[in-house]
Amino acid sequence: MTQSLIRTEIDFEADGKHHGFLQLPHSVHRSAYGWIPVPIVMIKNGPGPTALLMSGNHGDEYEGQIALTKLCRELDAGDISGRIIIMTMANYPAAAAGLRTSPIDQGNLNRTFPGNPLGTPTEAIADYVENVLMPMCDYFFDFHSGGSSLLYPGTFMRGPGHTPEEHERLMALQRAFDAPYAWVFTGGGGPTTTARTAMGAAGRKGATTIMTELGGGGTVSRQILAQTERGIRRMLHAIGMLPAYRPDAANGTRELNVAGSVYAYDAGVFEPLREPGEAVASGDEIAAIHHPDEPWRAPTFVCSPYDGIALAKRFQGRVERGDCLYQIANDAKETNQ
Ligand SMILES: [Zn+2]
Repeated sequence: MTQSLIRTEIDFEADGKHHGFLQLPHSVHRSAYGWIPVPIVMIKNGPGPTALLMSGNHGDEYEGQIALTKLCRELDAGDISGRIIIMTMANYPAAAAGLRTSPIDQGNLNRTFPGNPLGTPTEAIADYVENVLMPMCDYFFDFHSGGSSLLYPGTFMRGPGHTPEEHERLMALQRAFDAPYAWVFTGGGGPTTTARTAMGAAGRKGATTIMTELGGGGTVSRQILAQTERGIRRMLHAIGMLPAYRPDAANGTRELNVAGSVYAYDAGVFEPLREPGEAVASGDEIAAIHHPDEPWRAPTFVCSPYDGIALAKRFQGRVERGDCLYQIANDAKETNQ
């Protein structure tokens, strides 16, 4: 049983559409008895599965925040079967600041699970999500984008499934979300995982869980936002929670395994030589790092050690040693579509 100090304004057992805040006590100079308002919406209509839909886990990732905000306003209880819990700004301080991490405690929520009920604000949110919300859930969908530093095409993410039944549920969600790409993890997850991500937390609590990477660069792609809104409704329909929805024809998804990331070993200005989705061969020069502080100096070229395609690329121009420039992916070895 969690010792969480977070108080909720929602009765999770009440039918109908409810909204309010998780009140996270936060006593500071300007507000001695104050609380951090983490917004939450719950829509329940009779029996059926429970799904937790989250955005704002990282605060500078926006397609999910917009899509879930619109969903909160557009769905009525009569539209659904079961219970949908929506957190639009899961790490509220980070999302309110438009930052990946919380400006209060520097916490990266997606590296903080299982959290600590008596810890920092980010740790307390992680504990509440893992130990109060996730035990109620059959499904957990965590909508990320690339954030300020990375840019992805519309990408669905899933693990391999730990039982044939879980695998089929994950495949049904992948087909329903119908993103151009699926990044398939080849291991991890499940009830014994020690992963500090929200996806890891959901696995520990037995929920079927998926993630996304939907654009990035700290901005919003209209095309990927449209993919996101369509994909969310299609997934809810696929799990029986949006029975009257009529999905259109699927476009199909290219399944990928990530081969690895390519890093800068030199500081300077990053010239990308590949765009997301473009082919990469091992040994190809995929980035040039220029040195405008020593303009007579030759650029540093960065080669890919992997074959495949550029899945994500760094968004910002300035780089330092250790920054990720690209994530390279291959077609999945076993496709199950
Ligand atoms: Zn993220």
